[in-house]
Amino acid sequence: MNRNLKAIKWFINTQLLGKWYSVAYATFKVTSHCNLRCTFCNPSYYSGTLQEVGTEQLKKIIDNLRSTVVVLSFEGGEPTTRPDILELLEYAHDGSFYVMLTTNGYKLNDPDFLSKLADRIDFLHYSIDEYHWNVKAFDTLCKFREYGLKVNVQTVVTRYNIDKLEDKVRKVKECGYKILLMPAVDYPDSRVKLAPDREKYFEVLSYLKRKYGSTLNNSWGFIRAVGGELPKKLTSYAITVYPNGDLPYPDDVNGEIIGNLTRNRLEDLLASRRADELRRKMLEDEARYEYLHLQTASFNSLRDLAEYVKEMGKWAFTGRA
Ligand code: SF4
Repeated sequence: MNRNLKAIKWFINTQLLGKWYSVAYATFKVTSHCNLRCTFCNPSYYSGTLQEVGTEQLKKIIDNLRSTVVVLSFEGGEPTTRPDILELLEYAHDGSFYVMLTTNGYKLNDPDFLSKLADRIDFLHYSIDEYHWNVKAFDTLCKFREYGLKVNVQTVVTRYNIDKLEDKVRKVKECGYKILLMPAVDYPDSRVKLAPDREKYFEVLSYLKRKYGSTLNNSWGFIRAVGGELPKKLTSYAITVYPNGDLPYPDDVNGEIIGNLTRNRLEDLLASRRADELRRKMLEDEARYEYLHLQTASFNSLRDLAEYVKEMGKWAFTGRA
């Protein structure tokens, strides 16, 4: 089904028919190998310890996601370490998803790779910050315009860099891109605690959103939720999928594996009793403050949803944030 029709179907399912477990966004972790070892990262995402399946099995998982997911984000680990990444992106990019690739820039100096990438994705998510040791990338950021790539810079906000974000936002605005300021997550086994103070994070996001508008990809709905104004219906429309198809639910930090997408239909897993119990548990603990849950739950407000669609539509059609 065409991605825009699917978005309408998702809206009808969740807002009119009460199927509030439908998902619109999937983070697909296609590998657990990475060329970096970032301080805040869960080691299982760079050590290769998560089991990975081959190209054909990954395509099967993509087909399973096609039934409901509107936005499919290829992540890792570092997804470009997979030799078949371009083939997988091409397979997904048939009009049934908005396709994103999240990368630390591992292959972004290769012009041939960039040209091929431009035909296979809708948005490039480029992780740039002190913790990826690549802040110099801000100096040459505008070069991706030559390839027609729409870039969303992703910067991890920690308690240590939270006062140094404005310069980055300004550079992104100069290129007509967007920037998403993601809060660091303290995993239970994190070596150091980096997550920013929530109140301070709210203040900084509010200031930058007022000043730089749609350059900041964090929506007002999300920012208000961080400030304590939680959406009326607090649910999540996002899932994470592991490189072997396992589905940790409701997310990879707080969830448990409820099935495998090489064998189980996504819609059946989401409608299962165990998934329902885990969603309820999520509402009782800190999982409700996870970025993807808050961002997608804010779509339950028509005002926030309309504002988000307007910003993304402008970017998709004009190429500038
Ligand atoms: S680049 Fe991403 S996947 Fe790799 S170590 Fe850093 S945070 Fe983890």
